[in-house]
Amino acid sequence: MIIVVKNGTSAKEIERINQELSRPNLKTETSQGKHKVIIGLVGDTKDLNPEQIQTISPCVETVLEIKKPFKRASLEFRHGEYSEVVVPTPNGDIAFGKNAPLVNVAGPCSVESESMIVNTAFQLKAAGAQFLRGGAFKPRTSPYAFQGHAELALQWLATARQKTGLGIITEVMDAADLDAIADVADVVQVGARNMQNFSLLKKVGAIKKPVLLKRGMSASIQEWLMSAEYILAAGNPNVILCERGIRTFDQQYTRNTFDISVIPVLRELTHLPIMLDPSHATGKSQYVAPMALSAIAAGTDSLMIEVHPNPAKALSDGPQSLTPEQFYLLTEEMKVMAMAVGRPWQSSSQGIFCNLSHYQQFAAIA
Ligand code: PEP
Ligand code: MN
Repeated sequence: MIIVVKNGTSAKEIERINQELSRPNLKTETSQGKHKVIIGLVGDTKDLNPEQIQTISPCVETVLEIKKPFKRASLEFRHGEYSEVVVPTPNGDIAFGKNAPLVNVAGPCSVESESMIVNTAFQLKAAGAQFLRGGAFKPRTSPYAFQGHAELALQWLATARQKTGLGIITEVMDAADLDAIADVADVVQVGARNMQNFSLLKKVGAIKKPVLLKRGMSASIQEWLMSAEYILAAGNPNVILCERGIRTFDQQYTRNTFDISVIPVLRELTHLPIMLDPSHATGKSQYVAPMALSAIAAGTDSLMIEVHPNPAKALSDGPQSLTPEQFYLLTEEMKVMAMAVGRPWQSSSQGIFCNLSHYQQFAAIA
């Protein structure tokens, strides 16, 4: 249930309304939107009568019941106002959200060495990325496959952040590593395989850093939003949802099926920002560009693209990784698509190169 409070209501009156509603098993949560103040009521609301609540104060504008099982994640909870997740980075604040410029996230699947991640970070920044994403702890199907350089890779990511100013996104698999990861990461990623690891969701809900929640490979949209609800309910309001493809019957030609339809669906259901990951969705580098452009056309707020300096030698996910040059060219196309659909582009990533060979000269130096 939410209470929409009239514009201009004093903080004292809002506090009084909160007090009036105070009951065991009921949490009130006040959020200041751009235009309205909204008090959300979560928990045992069955004895609450919307008409009675309306009489608590003349400052109450409307009282609405949220029928969906996800409450805080629902669009109704913010009375139709889309939220922005603002991430402070050394290069400045970057906002994710429906009304914010498109955010370009890129990086190798795994952080393989210090020089590899630092050089790649410079190349990605030059091509127009705002965030460097790379795995230090890798969820691998085989226990014999490369598992990531763990704490060492976190240090290398910190160096790349310090040298380039790019924000860092990296995955947490085990709550025991969360503090070390949150020390380095600007956004903490929960991967597809952990989307329903509820104890991990509660833990990332208790930290201050924003969380990137990838959709489980077999998760329904409702299950995904219920997982986001765990993080929000634990006190962390900064959640970004990332579609990375789902399992369907055909895995011969694509790794997963890219569910671009989540974009308009999520827009109806939730206020949370949306990211799309065409790399894990398709599993093949030649399909990444068309899918990235389609995601922009459908209105995604951000993209995550895997980029490796030498995909043939990558320790994980080489077949789906672009080279830095391919990423540069894709970014140029993404700007055109963003313009075509009226989505602003981050001013920090306006191209500084006039063409590919100009970019290549830089990349050779970096
Ligand atoms: C990743 O982002 O590198 C990853 C392992 O993705 P997912 O959790 O979507 O499989
Ligand atoms: Mn990967």
